[in-house]
Amino acid sequence: MKRLAALILSLSLLLSLTWTSAEEEAPSLFVRRVDLPEGFFLGMDVSSVLSLEAAGVVFRDEAGAERDLFELLAESGVNLIRVRVWNDPFDADGHGYGGGNNDLQAALTIGRRATEAGMRVLIDFHYSDFWADPAKQQAPKAWEGLSIKKKVPLVKEWTLESLTALRDADVDVAMVQLGNETNGRLCGEKTWMNIYKVMNAGAQAVREIFPEALIAVHFANPENAENYLTFASKLDYYQLDYDVFGTSYYPYWHGTLENLKTVLSTVADTYGKKVMVLETSYAWTAEDGDFSGNTIGEGGAYEKPYPFTVQGQVNEVTDVAAAMAEIGGIGVCYWEGAWVPVGTESWEKNHELWETFGAGWASSYAGSYDPDDAGKYYGGCACDNQTFFDFTGKALPSLQVFRLMREGQDAPLAVDALDEMYLDCDLNGELVLPETVPAVMSDNSRQDVPVTWETVDAAALKAAGTAKYTLSGVTEDGRDAVLHLNMVKYNFVVNGSFEDPDSSMWQCVDLAGCEQLYNEEKRTDSLSGTRHWHFYSPTADSVDFELSQDITGLPAGRYTFSAASMGGDAGDANLYLFVRINGELTATAPTAITSWNVWHTAQITGIEVQAGDTLTVGIHVTAPGAGAWGKIDDFILNSEGE
Ligand code: CA
Repeated sequence: MKRLAALILSLSLLLSLTWTSAEEEAPSLFVRRVDLPEGFFLGMDVSSVLSLEAAGVVFRDEAGAERDLFELLAESGVNLIRVRVWNDPFDADGHGYGGGNNDLQAALTIGRRATEAGMRVLIDFHYSDFWADPAKQQAPKAWEGLSIKKKVPLVKEWTLESLTALRDADVDVAMVQLGNETNGRLCGEKTWMNIYKVMNAGAQAVREIFPEALIAVHFANPENAENYLTFASKLDYYQLDYDVFGTSYYPYWHGTLENLKTVLSTVADTYGKKVMVLETSYAWTAEDGDFSGNTIGEGGAYEKPYPFTVQGQVNEVTDVAAAMAEIGGIGVCYWEGAWVPVGTESWEKNHELWETFGAGWASSYAGSYDPDDAGKYYGGCACDNQTFFDFTGKALPSLQVFRLMREGQDAPLAVDALDEMYLDCDLNGELVLPETVPAVMSDNSRQDVPVTWETVDAAALKAAGTAKYTLSGVTEDGRDAVLHLNMVKYNFVVNGSFEDPDSSMWQCVDLAGCEQLYNEEKRTDSLSGTRHWHFYSPTADSVDFELSQDITGLPAGRYTFSAASMGGDAGDANLYLFVRINGELTATAPTAITSWNVWHTAQITGIEVQAGDTLTVGIHVTAPGAGAWGKIDDFILNSEGE
């Protein structure tokens, strides 16, 4: 038995050594070197870990060996573990609200394990029984409805008690947070004076129990710089005793790193505070791993400054760390980097684990405390695609970023992700597929890389009329590329429906002093969209103008031009479309205005264009009636083919 075990051990050692040296020869992951000062915090929030383990989750290293999460994180360069503390995340029957059921007992266990693994600990008091963020800052059940006067001593007592327990357990507390994302609310309080009083009670307790620890405040939405400066000035006004002005920074919603640096440096310089990113994270895949939808997936109203790849995640972490180091910040903490799926089999199985062990973001039991959000949408993990583990709990190469960024890791520049491409092709034009596809490289730079598309029968596509196709291609390094091809009757007129209020591509020559001549927004007066070209003049004989656009770069061939008009009170009017080629009038077509909402569309066909010609398409309007008015819309220039 013993011999066999030893043999297996030496075999696996050999395997892991072989694997390591092969990796070292050609690392595939690029890690930017970041100049980090000594003591810079590279933190991770793993508050959900105990619930995950209870639900059966096993963490493995990159080689697949089962590992204690804390030892694995410490080896990977993480030096700070953040843990949230809720006062009482349980209902009357003792059922956990979920999200890790993070009470003080959980913080003690997590704090002990982090300390034993050689990492320091950041205690994040939410001063609530469940999630606190800009949208909710509910007081704990036991303090609900209490006056601020009664609440303050309870806050102090709770903080003292909790920190004393942590101190007695020898947890290496480096920092304590007074509230979580407290954008103008905290613990049920909504005025800055009361928020200050709650924070101050907490601060006094921290100074008493952990005099060496840093006190942090934490806000969200740095993209709103003015709010941040207000928060900092309020805390200064009340003279709150704190050390670190902390922020969340999720690149999807929280503005640029440049903005973050400016906002935090301003706070640091103005008020003499340290600054830190207390929460950040980035998706390594758009997939969901636990049958419970994720906050970030493919598509959505958010920024995506890096591809959703393991390399993209690494680049996000190094860029945020570098930004903090540049402005003298003290660290970066990744949020819930180990909240992996409790299972990958079925929603039903996972649901049971979320309910039983609190391993999802909220259990149904949380509804008694938070009926509007948790009560309706309770479920699993919404960020399992933003961890440093695959969906089975095996470490991704990106976990090493914390260790590697101090020295950096070079890797041959490689394609990390390809943009999907879109191409409109005129039914009568030539189908020219792009020879390259835009790629994001491993260092987050951009390049166009050669691509080979599947063979297409252009004649057949054109014959099939207007339609949409998805073509697949492959790059030199074997990556799949996607081209969305839209076969259209291409309109060569730019902004032909006037939907863009910028009309600088149009020329309007006013020959008689028309009072109103402009691009107007009014759905009921537009033939398509919500905008059109408008004219009106109260005086007789003042409406006489020409509206036109010069079009260059047209493929040689025959074209059809059309445009529409409606209006009234025109008198003895003369309206016509016209075409000029290289300045020479070559064709006209009469049109009219008669009454509201009766559109007249005129057309000029068979316009012969040679390569290099400038084609001018336009409408001439002479409407001598007093009060003549009208609307012009939908200039269309289509190819008729060769
Ligand atoms: Ca999920």
